[in-house]
Amino acid sequence: MTTVGILGGGQLARMLALAGAPLGLRLLVMDTVADACAGQCAPLLVGDYRDEAALAEFASRVDVATFDFENVPAESAEWLAQRIPVFPSPRALAVAQDRLAEKTLFRELGIPVPEFVDVPTRAALEAAVAQLGTPCILKTRRLGYDGKGQFRIRSAADVGAAWDALGGQVANVGLILEGFVAFDRELSVIGVRGRDGEFRSWPLTENWHVDGVLSASLAPVACTPALAEQAYAHARALAERLEYTGVFALELFCRDGLLLANELAPRVHNSGHWTIEGAETSQFENHMRAVLGLPLGDTGMLGHACMLNWIGAMPDAAPVLQASGGHWHDYGKSPRAGRKVGHATLRAGGPVELARMLHDVGSALGRVEQVAPVIGSLRSR
Ligand code: ATP
Ligand code: MG
Ligand code: MG
Repeated sequence: MTTVGILGGGQLARMLALAGAPLGLRLLVMDTVADACAGQCAPLLVGDYRDEAALAEFASRVDVATFDFENVPAESAEWLAQRIPVFPSPRALAVAQDRLAEKTLFRELGIPVPEFVDVPTRAALEAAVAQLGTPCILKTRRLGYDGKGQFRIRSAADVGAAWDALGGQVANVGLILEGFVAFDRELSVIGVRGRDGEFRSWPLTENWHVDGVLSASLAPVACTPALAEQAYAHARALAERLEYTGVFALELFCRDGLLLANELAPRVHNSGHWTIEGAETSQFENHMRAVLGLPLGDTGMLGHACMLNWIGAMPDAAPVLQASGGHWHDYGKSPRAGRKVGHATLRAGGPVELARMLHDVGSALGRVEQVAPVIGSLRSR
């Protein structure tokens, strides 16, 4: 029996473990904390990712390793890769860990990106703001997630506040200034590449964020076939250049019919959670298939699907459980402000039916604001 090791024990590892069970896989999850939520579904090894003894124990107990988060120290990924197969490769991880490296690669591949400038000093920030104009966004190059490590600069008068907020971190994580994109909508491609180089993607997904955190995802997207093909081509070009193995997400801004790449997530992604019930093969199953060198599963959709994220605390499950096509995911985490604690997926045969389900569930849960933009998108079709 094959044992798959996962570095990081959050909800992504938990859903990978659940998808691995029917494939006959054993799992071992490593995390720094004993209450990591994946530990409820798979054996958990508690240890520091930089501790060689802990990594050695992990390596001795698994046949292949993967990640549930992108910020695994690059040296730890390298250390493991010298001993056991690791997918995606430490090189792909290293590129995706650094906004400057990833945007530089997008540009090299001819994938349009928002304007960006490396910001090593305060003087460089002032020059960069003058160059890009306002509004713009200062971001840490590394370690940001869920909109953390970002400062929105509305006018030149905000430069001091932006530097006060993030400048202290420049030596550790680097900073990058990005032009603000007044996008019409945010999209993502969830793609998967097998060990043999086969590439597949799920239908394009539209995403809504609140305070930098994903709130809702909808698939499929109503768009021209040309736009969808462009998005898949960008994702495929990236996967091929990085010789990527596994599932990844490419986040895109769409403005006036043009796609701009925001970031690459080298792992299963929150905007792909709808694939569990909304696609023939989920992103989690296909990630497992890819890292094991198994044939990839069909990424076709089953109807129309919307995923709603539960942030901070779980709402009442009953309205979703009672809905035909309603699916509930509680990650078993304790509530905390801003924390992703679960999600629901609603699946229906068509956009009209899905809009009605969203309306009913949103009203029953007092989440009218969360479902409103999704309903708007469905009704505009
Ligand atoms: P994630 O949790 O997706 O990894 P993150 O912390 O890496 O998030 P980003 O994806 O860079 O952060 O930004 C979070 C959200 O903030 C984006 O999805 C988008 O809504 C908004 N945003 C980020 N950069 C820009 C930009 N240059 N212009 C406009 N909006 C932006
Ligand atoms: Mg990110
Ligand atoms: Mg993002």
